[in-house]
Amino acid sequence: MIDLKYVDKSYRLSKENSVRALKGIELHIEKGEFVSIIGKSGSGKSTLLNIISCMDSNYSGEYRLLGENMRDKNKRELAEMRNKNFGFIFQNFNLLSKLTAYENIEIPLIYKKIPKRQRKKIIRKVAQSLKIENRLNHNPRELSGGEQQRVAIARALVTEPNIILADEPTGALDVKTGEQIIEILTELNRKGKTVIIVTHDLELSEKTKRIVTLSDGQIVSDEVIS
Ligand code: ADP
Ligand code: MG
Repeated sequence: MIDLKYVDKSYRLSKENSVRALKGIELHIEKGEFVSIIGKSGSGKSTLLNIISCMDSNYSGEYRLLGENMRDKNKRELAEMRNKNFGFIFQNFNLLSKLTAYENIEIPLIYKKIPKRQRKKIIRKVAQSLKIENRLNHNPRELSGGEQQRVAIARALVTEPNIILADEPTGALDVKTGEQIIEILTELNRKGKTVIIVTHDLELSEKTKRIVTLSDGQIVSDEVIS
């Protein structure tokens, strides 16, 4: 479902200077996989995630998503691919602090022009599955870190994406809360979602089924965990 071939990415710093953040990446991820991408800070993890999620189209090489070459897509089509296929979870939750949990979860459904009553139904159901149904009227700052991340996961799930992308999802959480978040991601994978986690936490990566290690812009190991 995700196929990268010879993907290279450089950031231009000035006229003479650039950083080669990805070097000849070859990566194939099938539907239903549970993958962690690990590597030190600066190894290229976020750069790779930006390309996979169709945020960044300024790379060389080939990226196919669901068999379609992303090179052939214009900006609007790339945004469509992104919204249709991916749900995002971030280290710092990225919730809007002036909105309630409910309103945060509602945003992607409003974008999708889902009618209000249907939005309510969907949000209720997802909130229940994440055990935040009693927190929906609260502002993010009134919630614990783990609750905020569950709200963020709910927001990622309401559009029923095929692929969940999580960039350091436990980075801002204590160990125990982080483990609960991993348990949620594991359960989503069990139900058939493709889950890709970027992390520098080895313990976390060992709970996935496949570990791809980046170092200095290259994949230096790719192992399936039994
Ligand atoms: P990671 O997520 O593994 O920490 P990144 O993908 O953020 O790594 O960064 C890979 C390399 O690209 C690093 O050397 C980083 O400094 C550089 N880089 C990342 N983003 C930018 C940017 N917007 N402009 C310039 N250099 C960048
Ligand atoms: Mg990063």
